[in-house]
Amino acid sequence: MKYFIQVFGCQMNISDAQRIAGLFESRGMKEVSTAEAADVFVAVMCSVRQMAADRVFGLEQKIKSVKKKNKKFIAILSGCITESDKPRFAEIFDHILDIKTLPRWLKILHLARGKPREGLTFARSRRLDLRDYFAIPPKQTSKFSALVPISKGCDNYCSYCVVPHTRGPLAARPPEDILAEIESAVKNGAKEVWLLGQNVNNYHCQGVDFAKLLRAANEIPGDFWLRFTSPHPKDFDDNAVLAMAQCQKVTPYLNLPVQSGDNHILKAMKRPYTAARYKALVKKIRAAFKKHRQGLEREIAISTDVIVGFCGETEKQFQNTARIFKEIKYDMAYISRYSKRPGTAAALLDDNVSDREKKRREEILNDIVKITALAHNKKWCGKTVDVLVDRVKNGFGFGKDRHYKTVKFRIEKNDIKPGDIVNAKIIKAQSFGLMGALVKNEK
Ligand code: SF4
Repeated sequence: MKYFIQVFGCQMNISDAQRIAGLFESRGMKEVSTAEAADVFVAVMCSVRQMAADRVFGLEQKIKSVKKKNKKFIAILSGCITESDKPRFAEIFDHILDIKTLPRWLKILHLARGKPREGLTFARSRRLDLRDYFAIPPKQTSKFSALVPISKGCDNYCSYCVVPHTRGPLAARPPEDILAEIESAVKNGAKEVWLLGQNVNNYHCQGVDFAKLLRAANEIPGDFWLRFTSPHPKDFDDNAVLAMAQCQKVTPYLNLPVQSGDNHILKAMKRPYTAARYKALVKKIRAAFKKHRQGLEREIAISTDVIVGFCGETEKQFQNTARIFKEIKYDMAYISRYSKRPGTAAALLDDNVSDREKKRREEILNDIVKITALAHNKKWCGKTVDVLVDRVKNGFGFGKDRHYKTVKFRIEKNDIKPGDIVNAKIIKAQSFGLMGALVKNEK
């Protein structure tokens, strides 16, 4: 049998897709590159914004037309799915399956015997399934960048967010399983390991917290970079700050979602910190890197996630966000215009900032970050950085340095490939990228 998986959204969904692929291939199924060529099609969806959900609704015609040609075709939906969207999706997909039920999928789908079951199945998760789910070895889609989930779900219930509703409460994965998966990925050639969770730094399992987990991962033999996403400012304790700065494999890059720079809006978003506390945390993290790292690593690159036009956000409140952007001087920002998600607490509030105004606010923040990012990047000029190459195209190599900055460099000979770590001397800085010149090939 042949399968095709289409992923929408974040790295967690990519990681889930890797485990689905791992399960299917353990049964001899082969991956193909289109739904039309497949017997089993899985969409791993994202519900964070309505636009993301609409893209999955847009698959309806494609699924119908493939079903006409292939009567055995099975369409499965997994990922982040809101309860209110399920009835409509049930008309498009044969099965809506919670990812935590993955260990039961072959049985549910009768794939073990090659006979798909008729009719719609809703598979719900039991908490007990989680370790079995994680025990399914992922098919790492990148040989050099491994995605390792450390937890699932979230208990924070930020008022705008569907994740706690779609993924359930936070459940942590045992540390020995995480460390074994990192070890195996590094043995198989991973040069970068991402620790994933909806709220990574709220990790607690068997007496191990996030700081201890970072330290244990850092001890794993091998030359690899350790990254993580996403942390919550409220859970960043001093131990985590120190572990990050002291563990040399942890790269000097942090995405620290601020969401708003206004205390009133933060409260309405159910984000239990203030702008002042957030700024103090950033200051502490920057100081820790200055103290415990050498050379370029003394500067940590910081990016953020922010929402503009949250319900009731006034111009004055937005200006507080603009102010925090100017003060923190981010290296990058992922800016979202607020979009109402059914089932969340904020869905009951008035989404009263116009689309036009949201767009204007987005542009203002974007303009600020362009200036601050460029100022940071200019400091890179003349310096030599390690670049993990992820793409080679038209005589150029592209990759990320340890600060997660995109570096582009010209390739003279055809001896550079994705997964190589090269040295590039930075010759030009732009807001969201650096131009480098190759000084030495693979380390
Ligand atoms: S911390 Fe907040 S924004 Fe992040 S996944 Fe949990 S509820 Fe959503």
